[in-house]
Amino acid sequence: MPEFLCVVCGTRYPESASPPPACPICQDERQWVRWAGQAWLDASELAATHHNVFREEDKNVCGIGTEPAFAIGQRALLLLRPEGNVLWDCISLVDAATVAEIQARGGLAAIAISHPHFFSAMVAWSEAFGGVPVYLHETHRPHVVSPHPCIRFWSGDRHSLAPDLTLVRVGGHYEGSTVLHWSRAAAGHGALCPGDSIRVAQDRDQLAFMYSYVNFIPLSARRVQAIWDAVADLPFERIYGYWFDFKVMTDAKAKLHRSVRRYLAALAD
Ligand SMILES: [Zn+2]
Ligand SMILES: [Zn+2]
Repeated sequence: MPEFLCVVCGTRYPESASPPPACPICQDERQWVRWAGQAWLDASELAATHHNVFREEDKNVCGIGTEPAFAIGQRALLLLRPEGNVLWDCISLVDAATVAEIQARGGLAAIAISHPHFFSAMVAWSEAFGGVPVYLHETHRPHVVSPHPCIRFWSGDRHSLAPDLTLVRVGGHYEGSTVLHWSRAAAGHGALCPGDSIRVAQDRDQLAFMYSYVNFIPLSARRVQAIWDAVADLPFERIYGYWFDFKVMTDAKAKLHRSVRRYLAALAD
């Protein structure tokens, strides 16, 4: 039986003879449904017409994205670590070539995802690597359309995946929007992987915060301040955004702080 993918957000649904009646992730006010209505693609059709590409985003940081672009078009990040590689965020396509490429780089030990827009094919990815755990903040539970034992919900504001890897709930875009802090990145100066909780702007020197990017719904000052407060004690030189090459490579923490102050000043005006 086919497993259908929502063509707008790329979420993969459990096996069903016919497409699901709707995609609740896209019906949410943060996302959108096509003018012509919901549309679906069989996951095997995606594999037949698309492939994944691997690009080095930084030392020990590999971007994995789908070509031609599909759905939201994000790329996942493979963080290469001797203790076990971690996939940050996810994409809709996982095929044999992708698995082989990742195995050649040391395999996969865990997956962690920022928020529902990047759940994509998380269960298929886990199963492709022997059922590795997928870490999600517990407030994302109502948005999971494919419940599975591989999904590990964590609670509270921080969760340590390893001494060098910490999941941080920053909220904002979603109540449980999560960023991943990797202390060992950037030669020990640290990096944030923020999904779209903190979005790298076009000039790669500014960061943006929205409740909904596609529907232009801003966040309140209190929630943007909370994003800063959640990461203010962490050292980080870099921020890796969710598209290829959208990254802040120097002085990222100061640039984030400046962007927060600018946002708050604009709201106060
Ligand atoms: Zn959708
Ligand atoms: Zn999002």
